[in-house]
Amino acid sequence: MSSRPSILVTAGPTRERIDPVRFISNYSTGTFGHEIAREAARRKMRVTLVSGPTVLKKPAGVRVISVESAIEMKRAVDMEFKKCDCLIMAAAVSDWRVRNTTSKKIKRHGQKASLELVENPDILAGLADHKSGRTIVGFALETENLEKNAIRKLKDKTLDIIIANKLDRQRKVLGNTKTSVLIIDRFGRNAAYKNRTKRELAKIILDKALSINIG
Ligand code: C5P
Repeated sequence: MSSRPSILVTAGPTRERIDPVRFISNYSTGTFGHEIAREAARRKMRVTLVSGPTVLKKPAGVRVISVESAIEMKRAVDMEFKKCDCLIMAAAVSDWRVRNTTSKKIKRHGQKASLELVENPDILAGLADHKSGRTIVGFALETENLEKNAIRKLKDKTLDIIIANKLDRQRKVLGNTKTSVLIIDRFGRNAAYKNRTKRELAKIILDKALSINIG
């Protein structure tokens, strides 16, 4: 391990191509991941940010790898993971991609159209076997059963910490600069933070991620 800890952060949505002009995606803006990367750079860590498409400016002192689809994000994370001490997976990875993409724009034909979707690989789940001492932090954005679903993901994906975010009707979490989260660690400790900016939460998340293996 180098003297300057190395952190890998993912951010933003992924885009799953339908044809040359269309895609499916989600409302993620990449704000959380960018704030975490910015704060890690401020702390003089070596930071690599794997980001899906966003309009955000590259944070100073951060190496950025821009990707588009979940498969591209997985390829970048798999490459970079072995070089990092800590992975914070804040990206909103699309669960599905389109089975048959076309090289030509699909035309209307006056009839019902459908897309066949296939599941994307789970990037985090694939890393569990190569973890060896690294800290892994995941996010869970839920519309219901927040704590229960987050704990299940923490266990299933062999995470050290999960940041659970509830998407409710009043407050749109994605892209919002203030949000409320529940942070749960692998020892079952949890802490709730209400109505904080993503910048404040980025500091809290980094503090927890960097201290979990030293007690
Ligand atoms: O989408 P889900 O709620 O399962 O996301 C939980 C965590 O898993 C997030 O940290 C997300 O970045 C990650 N994830 C992943 N690969 C996927 C889907 C989600 O690594 N295909």
